[in-house]
Amino acid sequence: MSAQQFKLIHNFEEISARPNFMESVHISQNEDGIKIKDLVGHYQFKERIKCGIAQCGTKHLKGYIVKLTNGFEIVIGHVCGKNNFGVDFTNKEREFNTQRIHAEQYQTLKETFEKLPELQQQFEEVLDQTGRLTFIDIKMGIKRLQMEAFDYWMNQIIKAKVTSKGAITEEQFKTEQEKEIEEEFSQGWGKKQYVRDTKTVTVAVIDEYDLVAEWHEAEKLKAYFERMHREIRNPAGMPNNVFKKLIKDLRDYEHNLDELKRFCTRGNRLFTQENLMKFSLLFNKSDDLSKVRVFAERYA
Ligand SMILES: [Zn+2]
Repeated sequence: MSAQQFKLIHNFEEISARPNFMESVHISQNEDGIKIKDLVGHYQFKERIKCGIAQCGTKHLKGYIVKLTNGFEIVIGHVCGKNNFGVDFTNKEREFNTQRIHAEQYQTLKETFEKLPELQQQFEEVLDQTGRLTFIDIKMGIKRLQMEAFDYWMNQIIKAKVTSKGAITEEQFKTEQEKEIEEEFSQGWGKKQYVRDTKTVTVAVIDEYDLVAEWHEAEKLKAYFERMHREIRNPAGMPNNVFKKLIKDLRDYEHNLDELKRFCTRGNRLFTQENLMKFSLLFNKSDDLSKVRVFAERYA
């Protein structure tokens, strides 16, 4: 059955128009009685309808279209099913749901395959058009920042003075008043404590500096899309284990695309001349300052 046949029906006319539909049929567990053969559809209504089992007739909102052993179809409430047919019905219900889920997933994969060129294009756009800098530009920028923009000693200073979040800190002398307040406060706890002469002050924050340490995650996301675009195929004849894995991996698709876009957006905020010039707060020597300037100017 296709996903269309498994869709939840909300309108009774859709059911009554079925060629083999009967309002009511006498069901019997006797050897020659009419029994349930299969569940062929499910529905949920806003107003109650009568159960098609003649001896029941209970009004209900939610149930199944069932095919009978005589070829006709009736509607039965999901509770009636269990009451009248017991375990057999529960098994049929389970089987129906398994088939329904499979049909939906099959449809999803089929549609995904059909719009694969579109998905690929969307992915390329995220890489190339999220901002002024493309994914590759950002990747190169991070490499430069780590490897060649600054020399060994400059990198040591950066490591020591820039926090993982990009805060550039500086030790500044406390004012006499600040020290007094602190001393008073510490004495208030009944114990004299050592009060430092200096305090750590954040003088600037390099926006999105933490992207440098997180960039491998962006590479992983890119690899995910490249793999998915290779693996997404028409599900017809696909081995079940491949089908299941693909369906599972597809669940992350949209979330991952948002994540990838976020990485590109952050990269574009990190690599601006203004943001990179903040590194010059760490240095005094003109050689060092000129290295910062040259690097930052690449992103002017
Ligand atoms: Zn019933």
